[in-house]
Amino acid sequence: MPTSAPGKQNFVRTVLGDIPAQEVGFTHCHEHIFILPGLSQEVDPGFLLDDIDKTTAELGLFYAADGRTVVDAQGIGQERAPKLLQLASQRSKVNIIASTGFHRGVFYAPDHFRYRESAEALAQRMIEEINVGMAIYAGSEVVERTNIRAGLIKFASDYHLIDDNARKIAEAVAAAHLATGAPILTHCERGTCALEQVQLFSKLGVHPSCLLISHLDRNLDRYVHEDVAHAGAYLVYDGISRVEIHSDMEIIELIRRMMEEGYARRILLGMDMGRRSMWKSYGGGPGMTYIGNVFLIKLRRAGLTYEPIEAFTNRNPTDALAFRKYS
Ligand SMILES: [Zn+2]
Repeated sequence: MPTSAPGKQNFVRTVLGDIPAQEVGFTHCHEHIFILPGLSQEVDPGFLLDDIDKTTAELGLFYAADGRTVVDAQGIGQERAPKLLQLASQRSKVNIIASTGFHRGVFYAPDHFRYRESAEALAQRMIEEINVGMAIYAGSEVVERTNIRAGLIKFASDYHLIDDNARKIAEAVAAAHLATGAPILTHCERGTCALEQVQLFSKLGVHPSCLLISHLDRNLDRYVHEDVAHAGAYLVYDGISRVEIHSDMEIIELIRRMMEEGYARRILLGMDMGRRSMWKSYGGGPGMTYIGNVFLIKLRRAGLTYEPIEAFTNRNPTDALAFRKYS
């Protein structure tokens, strides 16, 4: 297990190139900007975001509400859209940090290369996406290599399960992280396996401070949150606005408790807007301005001062999304 945190390099990698880490500004740390037609719609027909004009319009609203950077959590697969991400970023002026890495197995065909290739080969694919450019895939085939580089690495586990294939992918993700310094963004299905992910990556040589653990607020068990924060990982609260799961007030109460325990610098925010029904521009709601225009006001009403709120929105993303350097 690594003992000391690796140094931070002073940049984050966006689809338009590297920028100084302190320029990320108000950041959503887990979103989905485009999800093209593919297996994703078999998992949920609502996972379809394929209109450049609509996506750009929503990012424009986000920018007008002081939003500056968005993390796109769409990993390797034909639904990811590097060129559209670049175009949307150019048009909206919002920085977009794209992902390499892999989602849960359910999003891939049984004959996909993630199941048959070695961890070394999978790591090589991710390293190339970070250092050279993301590939455009048709199924398992690379149809084009872009020069648009990924800025973080996605990892996902299932509900209460990290299976053998996910463990192999974790090995590959860790190797790609150690080779490139790109931070790791993880998916915890319904908030499970968070601490297990931290322990698994620690064994693979990844310092916990390089991990951004997503969807933890789907499981409001504060002991889990405290353990993950105590281990040194970042927690992405990206279920804000999902009142069918929990009210914002429950997240605010959790945030207050985490602050009392001294973990304000571990918290990141996002909305995980993978369903088109969540986008105003696609005809739904509450839209990407919800955190800035609604949730942060609630945090202030709950008594939070400028400093912790600015940490959640700006300072913590600056630290979490910067590339690392292991000595
Ligand atoms: Zn997601």
